[in-house]
Amino acid sequence: MQSKTSFLTHLHYDHVGNFDRFPKARFHLQERELAYATGRYMQYPRLAHSFEVEDICGIVRLNYARRVMFYNGDAELAPGLTVHAVGGHSAGLQFVRVRTRRGFVVLASDVTHFYENMASGRPFTTAFHIGKMLEGYDRLLALAPDESHIVPGHDPLVMKLIRLRAGNSRASRCGLTCRHRGPRPFVLTICRGSSRYRDDLDGKQNAFEERYTCRAALTSPPQLLESASAVRFRF
Ligand SMILES: [Zn+2]
Repeated sequence: MQSKTSFLTHLHYDHVGNFDRFPKARFHLQERELAYATGRYMQYPRLAHSFEVEDICGIVRLNYARRVMFYNGDAELAPGLTVHAVGGHSAGLQFVRVRTRRGFVVLASDVTHFYENMASGRPFTTAFHIGKMLEGYDRLLALAPDESHIVPGHDPLVMKLIRLRAGNSRASRCGLTCRHRGPRPFVLTICRGSSRYRDDLDGKQNAFEERYTCRAALTSPPQLLESASAVRFRF
């Protein structure tokens, strides 16, 4: 299965890594995020450590190849499918909202790492702008019917909830997908990856990343994806 559209919520290595495994995709990104990742703040290790310079160079090359779509703020890409710029954790961070049979689902990415950050108003430690991060929690809640329709970027609880509902581990093998309802329905897959740890299969960090990476979904037959999307949003 070849994805033609990929949303880059931001350019941290654990969200943009392995982009080269989507050779036919166009990447949708906030313009500010690329400016941030190539700008003056990257001289500071405390901010730069979340980026992998080869990933950033790769996105610049994709831009020269006309494979990056830039946004400046919120945008509607199709009826019921929108991106929302929030900043905070990274300068050009965005999240995605998609209309499904179960209502609007908000794919938060790192706007909130865990449900806990959003619920307690406690900022995550990796931050560019604390105020915008806090506003981001408000925006997630404002654009979702309730918390159960929000998918945080790093919370193991998401996969636990899916397994509980699905009664098996299929969802975890496939990653998370949701089916967009609209004139032209399509499946949206949450895909995370890290090229930084690609070769370090025994590393703990890699194990953590693998749990959230749905590489299997790239080669799964469509019916498996549909099955995953069917279980995904019941919790
Ligand atoms: Zn991040």
